[in-house]
Amino acid sequence: MMVRSLLLVFFLLCSSLSAEIRTLTILHVNDIHSRLIALENGRGGFAYLAAAINKERAGCKDCILLNGGDLAQGSPVSTMYKALPVFQIANQFKFNAATLGNHDFDYGYEQTTKLIGASKYPLVSSNVVDNEGHLFAKKPYVILKINGLRVGVIGVMTDQLHTLAFPKNLGKWHTISSVETARKYAAEIKGKCDLVVALGHITAPEEQAFLKEQDIHVIVSGHIHSGLEKAMESPDHVLVRTKNGGEELGRLELKIDTVKKAPVSWTWKKIDVIDANITPVPAVAKKVKVWEDKVTAIVDAPLAVSDRDYTKAEVKAILEDSMREAAGADLAYMNLGGVRALIPKGPLKVRNAWNVMPFDNLILYGTFKGRDLPELVTAGHTIDPDKDYKLAVPDFIAATALPKLAFPNEAGLQRDALIAHLKKKWGQSASR
Ligand SMILES: [Zn+2]
Repeated sequence: MMVRSLLLVFFLLCSSLSAEIRTLTILHVNDIHSRLIALENGRGGFAYLAAAINKERAGCKDCILLNGGDLAQGSPVSTMYKALPVFQIANQFKFNAATLGNHDFDYGYEQTTKLIGASKYPLVSSNVVDNEGHLFAKKPYVILKINGLRVGVIGVMTDQLHTLAFPKNLGKWHTISSVETARKYAAEIKGKCDLVVALGHITAPEEQAFLKEQDIHVIVSGHIHSGLEKAMESPDHVLVRTKNGGEELGRLELKIDTVKKAPVSWTWKKIDVIDANITPVPAVAKKVKVWEDKVTAIVDAPLAVSDRDYTKAEVKAILEDSMREAAGADLAYMNLGGVRALIPKGPLKVRNAWNVMPFDNLILYGTFKGRDLPELVTAGHTIDPDKDYKLAVPDFIAATALPKLAFPNEAGLQRDALIAHLKKKWGQSASR
């Protein structure tokens, strides 16, 4: 009896010493895409997102805020000023750490370095390197201290970066395996951490791969623009991701076993950033206004009137029409992923065209025999193999998806073609 109770005491002592459970709350966003002000749906905008963040953080002793990449690209201010003001204003979110997305390279890697320099928080990225293995970012990971926990956050870029960015914008920089690199760093830092988090700008298959990693139990993801309905899980693993454009803020509440260095339980929710219900943070609203005022003369002119809401596939077709017109081409191809906003019902401003097409992408065209055209561009069309076709594509597609075809001619910016097309198509009704 005596021995048994002694054993019990010993067991309780040991277990209380070994298994310490501490809480951690990860607030997170991804793919904010420079959405300084809300689109027609009235969601997001920096001053409103900042207010939503402040509300979640108020009185929270175990909260950290992470950003899963692609802060750049998506609004006129970003395009015209190469995202620098966007990164400056985003300091107001007070991220504890962030990683880079593919679009953070849209203005060339030299500009990305400037964007990192403007960020007052660690921008971690572990697997963008040059041939000598030098890291592009200043740090591959950061160890955050919160609520008595040491949380290692490793930044991860998708292995697909080379297909998602213009080669010229990457220069000598490329990715090495996202999963293997994160695994290496996780093994290196796990002794110094109570939890290792992957902060990834990654594809769906890569998300699945991370859910199987031994030393990485929490994945805060980005790149895919749809938020998850519920957290993705595998034993001892959880992965979360929010909708793009700052329209949602994620809140992952974890109970961490500091011996297992893994969560024992978690709950996840997304907070909708609905502007009508939020008082914007004045200091952020002021900064947003300064930059929006600089572009308003160009982008807030009336353009046309849209008779209804257009889907992404329909906007792609409208873009293709505009490219065919601009180039006098028989065929045009636009990638669906390059359609960055929808066309809403009602009066349109030039800004709507900027939202659809924030990239300064050029229309390139060339003439090809039907038989030489790849299926990517002929899908849905009847093609005569012996006929000549004039094909128009964005320069981004020419460089990444169709490197074997030569496009000798150029027909201006895609966005300008879209503006001209919408003016011609629906502009009359605007003046009625
Ligand atoms: Zn991305």
